[in-house]
Amino acid sequence: MDKQGFTTGIVHGDRNAGVEHGGLRQPIHTSVQYGFERVEDLIGVFQGTKKGGYNYARQGTPTTAALERKLTMLEEGVGSICFSTGMAAITAVFLTLLRAGDHLVASRYVFGNTNSLFGTLRTLGVEVTTVDAGTRENVADAIRPNTRMVFVETIANPGTQIPDLLRIGELCRERGLAYVVDNTITSPALFKPKHVNASLVINSLTKTIAGHGAALGGAVTDTGLFDWSQYPNIADDYRRAGRTEQGLLQIRKKGLRDMGAALSSEQAHQIALGAETLALRVAKCSENALALAQYLERHEAIGQVFYPGLESHPQHGIAKSLFRSGSWLLSFELRDPANMLDVINALRLPVKATGLGDTRTLIIPVAPTIFFEAGAQTRKEMGISDGMIRLSAGIEEIEDLVADFEQALRLA
Ligand SMILES: *Cc1c(COP(=O)(O)O)cnc(C)c1O
Repeated sequence: MDKQGFTTGIVHGDRNAGVEHGGLRQPIHTSVQYGFERVEDLIGVFQGTKKGGYNYARQGTPTTAALERKLTMLEEGVGSICFSTGMAAITAVFLTLLRAGDHLVASRYVFGNTNSLFGTLRTLGVEVTTVDAGTRENVADAIRPNTRMVFVETIANPGTQIPDLLRIGELCRERGLAYVVDNTITSPALFKPKHVNASLVINSLTKTIAGHGAALGGAVTDTGLFDWSQYPNIADDYRRAGRTEQGLLQIRKKGLRDMGAALSSEQAHQIALGAETLALRVAKCSENALALAQYLERHEAIGQVFYPGLESHPQHGIAKSLFRSGSWLLSFELRDPANMLDVINALRLPVKATGLGDTRTLIIPVAPTIFFEAGAQTRKEMGISDGMIRLSAGIEEIEDLVADFEQALRLA
């Protein structure tokens, strides 16, 4: 069939791949082991010569494979691997593709746990330099002879900074560096990192791809643009694969199989159900986020509002040219942060909870929670003030959200 639209591809993907009894979705395969009539086939699965076979669920099941096919399609890649969480996917990429003595250049504005993971990498002998990735020059200046990889997020959480995605992609291509882009906040519904030359794309499936907050999961997708035959850290065993396949093969063997953070079939199924409405939800959440951001920007009790869809956002131009919309993530500060907790408590609709990309609006004060352990110095470097409030816009009616803020902000 010709190339189909985004949502058409998701909702018909399983059926078009063939499901027994005419099922519309891949069933939940709960088997850990897979048996064969002929032992040659078992051997073939172990040796990778029998394509599409399974042997042990830690390396994948037909249900996780169906989700991987969908993600590959959505990111226009050549292959994907699912993990039990987004952090497991990121960890697997770093630990399988970087070695002691290598150097990683990363955006300074990244998810808190990713930033914490940089600390672990340093204890293992990997050098990590974090920079303001808002310009290509900042990234270029940090590159050393032992630099192997550049890591950025599309929209930083919680400050919503956007790297110079396109020009950093060009830089990585010129220098032969692996370019890893965490697409969690935008999702493939808003942006495909392949279009800016990303080598690998990370998605936390827990967030907007599932959307319901009922399952954890993560994935890495290879865009097929990077020539892994030129990358130094691929084990000889995996050099036999094609030049676009070597990276993912090593991540699947050394990351998924050996480190063991496998996604279960049950969770993969939950995520696939949520993903059917990805584009619809993201459009509605973005619409709500923009309306709320505009409302908050006009409100006299509000100091700063951080949302890429606002013209006041420093990277509004990049967001407009690369992303379909501004996403569901926005942050803001009260003019008088002393009342922050009272205002949040007065809100009835947004759930006082961590998490992102849910169907329900979620709200959290950033400094005392997700960035508490980071400490005051790191918060300052990452541009996080004590009064910053993060909001993940849901799919509720906007009138209800605005009315709720209207009453709560009277306390500000
Ligand atoms: C949540 C998040 C992750 C980690 O995902 P989990 O599924 O919670 O492990 C990684 N990157 C970003 C940008 C995130 O928001």
